[in-house]
Amino acid sequence: MQRYFIDQNADESQRFFITNKEDIHHITNVMRNTIGNQIIITFKDKIVFKSEIITIENESIEIKLIEQIDINSELPVQVTICSGLIKADKYEWLIQKATELGADSFIVVEMDRSVVKLTPNKVQKKLERWQKIIKEAAEQSYRLIIPNIIFKSNLNEIYDTINHYDYILLAYEDEAKRGEVSLFKETLKKFKTNDRILLIFGPEGGFSEKEITLLNETSFNVGLGPRILRAETAPLYALSAISYENELMGWILCQQLRFTHWVAK
Ligand code: SAM
Repeated sequence: MQRYFIDQNADESQRFFITNKEDIHHITNVMRNTIGNQIIITFKDKIVFKSEIITIENESIEIKLIEQIDINSELPVQVTICSGLIKADKYEWLIQKATELGADSFIVVEMDRSVVKLTPNKVQKKLERWQKIIKEAAEQSYRLIIPNIIFKSNLNEIYDTINHYDYILLAYEDEAKRGEVSLFKETLKKFKTNDRILLIFGPEGGFSEKEITLLNETSFNVGLGPRILRAETAPLYALSAISYENELMGWILCQQLRFTHWVAK
C-alpha cells in the first residue's frame, strides 16, 4: 500500500486533505486510486495511519483515518551526512540510498577538491530536485520523516553548527591508508539513543589539507577499512555499520538479555 506524508500532526477525530500536486497526481493517475481505496499516511508527529480516500478533487484529496499502524523505521541516532559536492548522478544516487539507510538529514558542501561547482542560481533548483528524490525514497522505504537537505559553499560554513552534534566523525581516506581501523567502531559503540551524529565525507578528490586542519580540533578522523571507497559509497558503508550496530546487534543483545533473564528465573 502506497505511503504519503502530511505535514500536520495526526488526529483521529479529524479528516485531512492531501494538497501536494505530485502526491495527487501519483495517487490518482499513477496508482489509479478511486474513492474508498486505502493509502498509508505518515504525519509530522511520526504517527502512521491506514486511511481511506473520501473525495478526489483536482486540488485536493480528502481522507479519513482508519487504523493506526505501529511502526518505527527510524535509526535510534540522528545521522547527518555532510558530503562534498560530487557529480550530479552520483550525488542523486547517494541521497536516495542514504535515505533508505536512515540518514536524518544532508549537508552538501562545495569542497576544495569538488569537481563540480554550482552557481548560486543553480543551487535552489538543485535543492528542489534533491529534496524530491529524498521524499520519494523516504516514502518508498517506510521512513517516518522526510530528511531535509541544505547547501553550503564551503566547509567553514558548517563550523558554526558544530556544537549541535554529539559526535563528529570525518571519514578520512589517509587514515585508512595509514591502517586506522578501530576508531569508527569504538565511537559507534558509544552512541546513545537520539545522539546527533555528523559524518563528513570528501568529494571525488578527497579532503584538502586546509579542510582537515579546519576540523582537527572538533572531529574524529576515522578510517572505513582498507579499501578506498567512492564518494557516493563511503556514506552508505557508514550508515549500514551504524544500522547494524544499533538496530541488529542491539536487537540480538536484547534477545540474549531476555534469554539469560528467562534462564535465570
Ligand atoms: N581521492 C582520494 C584518494 O585517492 O585518496 C579518495 C577520495 S574518496 C573517493 C572520497 C571520500 O570517501 C573520502 O574523502 C572519504 O571521506 C571517503 N572514503 C573513501 N574510502 C574511505 C576509507 N577507506 N576510509 C575513510 N574514508 C573513506
